[in-house]
Amino acid sequence: MDAWRYIVRSNPNRGSVETFLPLILSAAGALGVLPFAIRRFMQQEWTAAVIDTVVVTGFVALGTYVYRTQRVRVASIAIAFLCMSGVVSTVYVNGPAQVYWVFPALMAVFYLVQPREAAIGAVITLAALAPAVLPANSSHESGTIVITVIVTCAFALAFSLITSRQREQLLVLATKDPLTGAGNRRGLEAKLTEVVNAFRRSGLVASLILIDLDHFKRVNDLYGHAVGDQILKRVTEIIDLRIRVTDSLYRIGGEEFVVILEGADLERAVLLAEQLRTLVDANELVPDHEVTISLGVAEIKQGEDGNDWLHRADEALYRAKDAGRNSTSVSS
Ligand code: GH3
Ligand code: MG
Ligand code: MG
Repeated sequence: MDAWRYIVRSNPNRGSVETFLPLILSAAGALGVLPFAIRRFMQQEWTAAVIDTVVVTGFVALGTYVYRTQRVRVASIAIAFLCMSGVVSTVYVNGPAQVYWVFPALMAVFYLVQPREAAIGAVITLAALAPAVLPANSSHESGTIVITVIVTCAFALAFSLITSRQREQLLVLATKDPLTGAGNRRGLEAKLTEVVNAFRRSGLVASLILIDLDHFKRVNDLYGHAVGDQILKRVTEIIDLRIRVTDSLYRIGGEEFVVILEGADLERAVLLAEQLRTLVDANELVPDHEVTISLGVAEIKQGEDGNDWLHRADEALYRAKDAGRNSTSVSS
């Protein structure tokens, strides 16, 4: 019943790895274009100078935004857009020799946004560039440009697809309990932060149920750890089948679970807790041995953080154990 105590407060810099790429790319973009902006000013090529200045300023502004806010998604789209429009502008203003910029721009776009978005952006950029670049070159040069651009896009797309798949797998590994498939402690931590913030912001009510298997050590001693594991899986299935899509289930200790009910008051949470208790009791999880659960229920209160809320549910759970187990206790 103490497992929740290890829940650490969420780290506000959790997104810092995500911010690394947009920061690097915006810094590289700004530093890469800056010398050209300066040269255009010195040579009094005003249109080109203004375009370069807008691009450099855009990179600096977006990089600063990411650094300050740790928000990545919108800034990444904006940086990708800046890269693509910068290349098209410079080719039309300064001539087809500027087409070399398309290579770093394409790489940046594929790194920054989702694979499909990047592919669409690349097609639009290349379609916009083609009328300015292809007629200005010999057929041999044009062929080389087209093929190298296609190869670059193919590599970047492959890389981007692999990375986004790995990211999804990592997210599953980081937030799911491998034995039962329920959310893990990290997943609970993220959900608690989200739910507590929603309650503070708009008063959206939520409740939680803390669940602990009764005398589970005894079950392990009697039937072995492997059977114990199977019981944990079955209990997860029983809970999973009964909760709603807006409820979420986490396994936070060895034989301890939490259900978060978003938008549910205490009354509904107690109803669900009793249903879960009865269901587990009624299921013959091992022959000739009753496997039961005790539950503590709490609705979120003003001024509480996630740990305070869990703490109240834990106190209720202790009372349920004291009352003889296989029972539900409520924190009022
Ligand atoms: P109580 O009713 O007071 O909760 O008694 P309990 O025996 O369930 O509580 P206690 O905390 O003393 O023991 C929890 C037991 O849960 C200890 C361990 O054998 C078992 N357990 C913890 N994690 C796992 C697991 O991943 N698999 C299995 N099979 N057993 C586990
Ligand atoms: Mg326990
Ligand atoms: Mg127990």
